[in-house]
Amino acid sequence: MSQDKQMTKGQVQKIHIKDDWFEVYQLPHQVYAITEPKHFEEVQSFLIKGETYSVLLDTGMGIGNIKPVVEQLVDGKVVVVNSHFHFDHVADNHRFDEVYLYNEANALKMMKAGCSIEEMAYNVEKSMFFGEPPSSFDQQNYAILPMEPLLVEDGHVFDLGDRKLQVIHTPGHTQDSIMLWDQANGLLFTGDSLYKGPICLHFHSPTYGFSNLKEYIHSMKRIEKLTDSLRCLYCSHNELIAEPSLIKEVIDSLESLVKETHHFPISHRGLHAYDDEDDKMARYDFDHFSVVVRKEDITQYSQG
Ligand SMILES: [Zn+2]
Repeated sequence: MSQDKQMTKGQVQKIHIKDDWFEVYQLPHQVYAITEPKHFEEVQSFLIKGETYSVLLDTGMGIGNIKPVVEQLVDGKVVVVNSHFHFDHVADNHRFDEVYLYNEANALKMMKAGCSIEEMAYNVEKSMFFGEPPSSFDQQNYAILPMEPLLVEDGHVFDLGDRKLQVIHTPGHTQDSIMLWDQANGLLFTGDSLYKGPICLHFHSPTYGFSNLKEYIHSMKRIEKLTDSLRCLYCSHNELIAEPSLIKEVIDSLESLVKETHHFPISHRGLHAYDDEDDKMARYDFDHFSVVVRKEDITQYSQG
């Protein structure tokens, strides 16, 4: 497993916690990754420890209860910041008093509405699990509870006393996607916008939001300017840690794709379950990542 590989480098250390759903890894610079390896999404939330308060970047799937896990790792106040509104990042928001979301209309609407049992049923079918859900999990009633988040804008700084986290708006995966930049420690928390795996840029519905390839490339060019300040990227799916050089690889690869300077074979069709229009999507594989896009977005981009 990729995380084991990282552990041999000494960057990531597994922490023992009392929980039968989550696994926790300690990362450099007082950061804990709280992972959910027994579900298909394999989402990773991050607890960023601070002096006056700590930030929990995302709250996960809501299959287990993330709050007691957080309480085993840090004392004091915990503020939740959502990387974006997707269900696998926000489902335990309701357990916390102070939850921030980027100020974007569709994301806010979805957060206030929640997701119904019917909408969420697919995500907790037996085939979506790699292991047993916790005994406390109530599959029949799994839903995302509605909630009223606080809103942040681009440039907002969370001041944790001994460290600062700056919000960088990076639309593309969804319109509300953000990253958190810890400049002093050279960390960029990338959410679903950047990782070593299939980056999803094909969403086109209120439930999952609206991806935008052009905006995505623009967002990546914006964070490329930070590259010299970065030691590593902390990512919300797949390998926990990626090299900052991934930013340039993504920009160069996608620019080649949209300009068709190379012929890129479509590697998979219809692999992703979040959209019924599988024939309209394509996945392209590059050295360290893949991208899932709507074919018409590439055509439109190429036509200017
Ligand atoms: Zn997402």
